[in-house]
Amino acid sequence: MIIKDFVIIGAGIAGFSAIKAIREETKEKSILWITNEDRIPYKRTKINKNIAKGFNKNDFALIEHDWLVDNHIELLYDEVTEIKTDKNELIFNHRGHLRYKKLIIATGNTPNPLNINNLPAENIHHIHSARQAENIIRTTRQSNKYLIIGAGVEGVEIADQLIKLKKEVVLVEKNKEVISRFFNPRFSQLMRKSIINSGINLITEVKNISYKESLSDQAIIEIDGIEYEFDTIISTIGYTPNIKLADDSYITCDKGILVNEKLETSAQDVYAAGDVAQHPSGEITGLWHAAEKQGYIAGKNAAGQNLQNILKPFRMKTEVFNEFYFSALPPNNDTNVITEEKENMIRELYFKNNKLQGVLMLNDQSRAKTYQRALMEQWTPDEINKKLPL
Ligand SMILES: Cc1cc2nc3c(=O)[nH]c(=O)nc-3n(C[C@H](O)[C@H](O)[C@H](O)COP(=O)(O)OP(=O)(O)OC[C@H]3O[C@@H](n4cnc5c(N)ncnc54)[C@H](O)[C@@H]3O)c2cc1C
Repeated sequence: MIIKDFVIIGAGIAGFSAIKAIREETKEKSILWITNEDRIPYKRTKINKNIAKGFNKNDFALIEHDWLVDNHIELLYDEVTEIKTDKNELIFNHRGHLRYKKLIIATGNTPNPLNINNLPAENIHHIHSARQAENIIRTTRQSNKYLIIGAGVEGVEIADQLIKLKKEVVLVEKNKEVISRFFNPRFSQLMRKSIINSGINLITEVKNISYKESLSDQAIIEIDGIEYEFDTIISTIGYTPNIKLADDSYITCDKGILVNEKLETSAQDVYAAGDVAQHPSGEITGLWHAAEKQGYIAGKNAAGQNLQNILKPFRMKTEVFNEFYFSALPPNNDTNVITEEKENMIRELYFKNNKLQGVLMLNDQSRAKTYQRALMEQWTPDEINKKLPL
């Protein structure tokens, strides 16, 4: 049976970063990288921000094909269906099986399914892959009335794109606040104003969404007792880590695959990184740069290093409705907040023991990288005043 030194399941940023780390350690050993998508690995964060402009198949590619050749990486378009951890063996959907010496699971997550009574599931769009984004772009040629369910970052960014295309958008959210994962009530309110001012019909605290009937190409949907007609329905109600493969293989999982600080799983020679991994604190990070860092550490450790993954406050940034938002909420509430405003800029800086723990910022876009550095280096209020005054 074929044996590979390193196998990486999942060709997102965590998998890519793992491969780069492995190649820093060894140029010779074999690496097999597996993707179940339809194209070369790409920057997932771009797909929902480019619906108005559209994109070509490889516009957001993380690598050129030559990079794979130059680095002796074999990219396999297939799906792993089973891991036999007692034999270090993988079973594929199409291409039989092989053995690994070290395995990194970087399978990411999948959009949560949305059930609206009797509305066929294929009538609801989701957005996780470039292929799904392309399907949404295709609808923009003939659709005018859109329902977006879920006012998290992805939903708000899609709404912004559709407004750029002059579409009619109803955005619904079950919570009181929009983007509640990343914002406090004040920043949610700021975002709410931007959404409403752009012409979107935002409905929050929604209790009931039900399907009535279809008239030609439109679906009649009742939202809390009021009927609307929609050409296209998009669900962005969150994501669930892809743990089934690991769980079925007796690798310990909770919401994600449980990992320790070295990103080792409960199975010998098996690591997990990125959106699929659940850390000792219980956290599942769900952010690009966090997945990138974890992939790197998993790759290094699989190749013989002994690095620890320390969860840092990675930021979420989004540019919508001509505003720029930056969020890295502090890990807990025991912080002092300094709030500052100047012109159209607002920031809230969270300190504990005089060290920066969190930032919410609006419209200080040109210095976003400095804010990230200040967070990573835990600047004091004095350092902020000197190096990052508002
Ligand atoms: C639309 C969208 C916009 C986003 N925007 C931002 C943003 O602006 N900023 C930010 O920080 N984060 C953003 N995120 C989150 C960010 O993209 C993720 O945190 C990051 O991509 C996670 O990387 P990953 O490698 O862990 O997983 P993924 O990128 O999900 O990659 C996992 C890959 O594994 C594949 N796979 C799964 N199971 C198997 C299997 N059995 N066999 C083979 N392949 C398999 C999947 O199909 C997928 O290709 C966004 C996410 C989405 C969906």
